[in-house]
Amino acid sequence: SAQPEVHEFQAESRQLLDLMVHSIYSNKDSFLRELISNASDALDKLRLESLQNKDLDVDASDLHIQLVPNSDERVLSVIDNGIGMNRDEVIGLIGTLARSGTAELRRKLAEAKDSAASEELIGQFGIGFYSTFMVADKVTLVTRKAGESTGTRWESTGDGTYTIADVDDAPQGTSVILTLKPVDTDDHLYDYADQHKLRALVKKYSDFISWPIRMDVEKTTTVPAEEEDTEPVTTTTVETETLNSRKALWAKSKDEVTEDEYKEFYRHVAHAWDDPLETITLKAEGTFEYQALLFIPTQAPFDLFMRERTAGVSLYVKRVFIMDDCDELMPEYLRFVKGVVDAADLSLNVSREILQQDRQIRAIRRRLTKKVISTVSDIAAARPDDYATFWQNFGRVFKEGLVNDLDNRDAILKASSFESTNSADGYTTLADYVGRMVSGQTSIYYMTGESRKQIENSPHLEAFRAKGIEVLLLSDPVDEMWSSSGVEFEGKSFVSIAKGAVDLDELDDADTSESEEEKAKDAAEYGDLLTWLGQSLSEDITEARISHRLTESAACLVGDTFSMSPQLEKLYRASGQ
Ligand code: ADP
Ligand code: MG
Repeated sequence: SAQPEVHEFQAESRQLLDLMVHSIYSNKDSFLRELISNASDALDKLRLESLQNKDLDVDASDLHIQLVPNSDERVLSVIDNGIGMNRDEVIGLIGTLARSGTAELRRKLAEAKDSAASEELIGQFGIGFYSTFMVADKVTLVTRKAGESTGTRWESTGDGTYTIADVDDAPQGTSVILTLKPVDTDDHLYDYADQHKLRALVKKYSDFISWPIRMDVEKTTTVPAEEEDTEPVTTTTVETETLNSRKALWAKSKDEVTEDEYKEFYRHVAHAWDDPLETITLKAEGTFEYQALLFIPTQAPFDLFMRERTAGVSLYVKRVFIMDDCDELMPEYLRFVKGVVDAADLSLNVSREILQQDRQIRAIRRRLTKKVISTVSDIAAARPDDYATFWQNFGRVFKEGLVNDLDNRDAILKASSFESTNSADGYTTLADYVGRMVSGQTSIYYMTGESRKQIENSPHLEAFRAKGIEVLLLSDPVDEMWSSSGVEFEGKSFVSIAKGAVDLDELDDADTSESEEEKAKDAAEYGDLLTWLGQSLSEDITEARISHRLTESAACLVGDTFSMSPQLEKLYRASGQ
């Protein structure tokens, strides 16, 4: 083997590593789950590769994960014979922590007030391979990519650098060798070279992994002495034990699976560290069979709004992994949904191009979409706190469906909630809004803006406030798009209070509205002023008119009913239109 090269970690990775080395994260056991999860992914990829490419020179006959603890030397190895990595991949994937959102995490960690807050952030973000540095003083990775002859050895003690070298005799796949830190139960560092501990951890975190997770265990048997003057005979044999039960959770019905099992499976498929907010199971039998196991996360991932983010649903065909991030299975506005779809009748060679045309896939997507939306509605009805969590994390994304998915728009509207003048900080559903409409009110009033605060300061709101008419306060960019698109809720149209002539006179509370006589008087009194205003501002406005929408401010600017709102104008201008 050649002399190892020393590389420096990228700045972001270095800081994250440092955090792991001096980890405040108490659940250090998670490192094993992460390594097994990575090994399982690598085996999935190798199987697929070998099925699709018969010429590939790989051995896919006994794919498995092996745990090799060495108690005396305080070393634990996690070995797979999966797809492996080449040198560039090791540098790119392990040395750089290429994950989007790392900078974001670092910034938030710097702001975090105490260790509990930092811990929550780490849990929210998930750490993957780097979590090994919570339990190891030194991490060595030896890997050879399937089909290639030279392997790569990577090693780091978690300081600023790592070494990398070619190796000639690496077996196919990846071994991660941890030189364990001393046991310190006060610091949640357990004996990770202990077979009982490892067996328990696999059961707890990785039982559902479809590949065998094996460990060689020593079995000692003692045969009692037959006669008084002979010694008992003790024999030690080594047996290979499979530690996990390998049950495919998506093939099971909900009552056969515990919440903890779903939770750990979610963490594996979603590469997440939080808990699922909701678990959805679906099954179709008949002409085309499929099973789906989907999760709505509790926490929004950092990359929810990033272009290179990973989508959430993996496609399997009869238990064989085909692809992750299968966009065809879930519309863009439900990109926060994670999980697995296992379709029985697709070819193992199915490509993204084929999927886009596939009628079955489209049918599955339609059904999953409806199911997710109705699940959100159910959560809204039954679990207000969970719904609030959902909305806070994913509401902005979910509302994109109001623009992009006209077939389901009514259902999405029903499952959505909005800030309004009804309460100082809460959200309202449209059904509740309609329930509070004043007599004679036929429209749902709203105003868009950059923030709730900005909208609340708008003079447009004055008359509505004075009359006690509720107004939705819409401050997400996507609100501009759907609210002005002619959408209706239960036959009621959405009317922007900042556009056109909103006629409040027909509504309740008759004493603030004007009689015809008063109107005539206003016209006589202010006619000249209006004409003058109209002429001197003719470059900027279409017309000056008397309005009753103001109670405190002297004047305000109003758009035509069919004009763009200032926010939408900004949005279009920003996108170069
Ligand atoms: P994630 O699994 O969320 O992508 P990790 O930090 O756990 O993040 O792993 C980073 C990447 O390193 C993986 O996406 C994968 O490409 C690669 N990797 C890690 N472990 C293995 C392994 N055992 N075999 C092959 N590739 C691996
Ligand atoms: Mg991982």
